[in-house]
Amino acid sequence: MLYTSTRDNAVRVTAAEAITRGISADGGLFVPVEIPQVDAAFLASLCEKSYVERAVSVLKLFLDEFGEDELRAYAEGAYLGGKYSSGATVPLVSPDARHNILELWHGPTCAFKDMALQMLPYLLTGSAKKIGNDKKIVILVATSGDTGKAALEGFRDVPGTGILVFYPADGVSPMQKLQMTTQEGKNVGVCAIRGNFDDAQTGVKKIFTDERVKQTLAERGFAFSSANSINWGRLAPQIVYYFSAYADMVNAGKVRLGEKIDVTVPTGNFGNILAAYYAKRMGMPVNKLICASNANNVLTDFINTGVYDRNRKFYTTISPSMDILISSNLERLLYMLSDGDDAYVRGLFARLSAEGKYDVGERVADLVRESFAAGFCSDEETKRTIGALFAADGYLCDTHTGVAVAVYDGYVKKTGDGTPNVIASTASPYKFSAAVLEAVSGKKNDDGDEFAAVDELTRVTGVEAPAQLKTLRGKTPRFRDICTQGEMEAQVYRMLDGLAD
Ligand SMILES: *Cc1c(COP(=O)(O)O)cnc(C)c1O
Repeated sequence: MLYTSTRDNAVRVTAAEAITRGISADGGLFVPVEIPQVDAAFLASLCEKSYVERAVSVLKLFLDEFGEDELRAYAEGAYLGGKYSSGATVPLVSPDARHNILELWHGPTCAFKDMALQMLPYLLTGSAKKIGNDKKIVILVATSGDTGKAALEGFRDVPGTGILVFYPADGVSPMQKLQMTTQEGKNVGVCAIRGNFDDAQTGVKKIFTDERVKQTLAERGFAFSSANSINWGRLAPQIVYYFSAYADMVNAGKVRLGEKIDVTVPTGNFGNILAAYYAKRMGMPVNKLICASNANNVLTDFINTGVYDRNRKFYTTISPSMDILISSNLERLLYMLSDGDDAYVRGLFARLSAEGKYDVGERVADLVRESFAAGFCSDEETKRTIGALFAADGYLCDTHTGVAVAVYDGYVKKTGDGTPNVIASTASPYKFSAAVLEAVSGKKNDDGDEFAAVDELTRVTGVEAPAQLKTLRGKTPRFRDICTQGEMEAQVYRMLDGLAD
């Protein structure tokens, strides 16, 4: 299985190279040259398997340089060992007859990012070894909140690696911020950025593709890699849980083997929903992928019109991990839908960087709408939805999942589509306690004390907060630096000096 670049079809690299490099030198993203296909027997076999075995079965289709035993050891390290607070790694919960919620957030940092970022350190160190990389791998991350913590937790004290995280100073929840600034480990660094997530991501992308920076690093024995969802090593593990959800839907008698499901995903960078699209292209029976956005509805407009236009107001919402106007992974979708037309993709992204806007043309726009539906909702609607779901079913969800439920309900009302549906639930409600508390009780957490909101939410709902978050109470932040996008490069060098060997 070989990989190419969305911006240059002449590129051919192995999975190990794609994962180690993170992003192609031409600025494109690595994609598999061919999409592996599965059949009904494959789906039936998954129904009998544990999550670890499902992961091995799906991942080996994309990562054939890795032996099955190797992948099994990785999956056991990533998904077992008491790291997941639930019985199942990713439970599928049905609070009522219409909603099937795939809880992806029972891992160490209480967001779905753990599903990929517990696996990535194994894939990355394994890949580096396979291609004979002798440099220390520095993971550089721009985060809208959850990636940063999940990457820090995944890579902390992993030999041969260091990890540096940039987050938008005013763009993450208090709990997300506390999770990152109190991070332990000898090989970690964390810094706030003045600006929003897009500023942080643009800054990181610039540093990544700058030959001069690369050289400076190489001289000091370091090589960058990425833990953002542009890295194939992050996307591949996310494909697994959609297959797992399908198998669980079959096992629960909600669909017959081969019958289609809809999948609703609260979307930001388009990584999670793209993984679902890969599952569909591989042959998992999917009708529609429903892309749910908050007030930053650039993807809703894109899916409905074929025009991607980031020139719009940026909103800070109660679902901060989706406060994004540049969805990087869309590039992979457009490459696939244009049948691998690298010149077309180059053209689109040149326009995006020059004008902040591109039009994919009628043919691709039609193909987008064939597979995807889209909707968005306001913070008020999200809160109403969380409140209503809790009142009716006693089921508590976070603000991102709330967006997905609201958009899915609106989609069903509008289209009458009765296809059984799976909603990707991306975070624990306790990562966004103040907003969730307001949603279920109408009470505002006025004094700003995050743990007062946690306590009150527990009291009001009777739902326990995850132990991983409760232990942060009273911890003193270890990282307090803040810088501008222009200062990021210097900050990287400063943080590298601080990493222990
Ligand atoms: C990252 C994140 C999202 C968005 O996922 P993408 O893969 O960027 O589309 C949604 N919800 C939560 C809680 C997240 O952490």
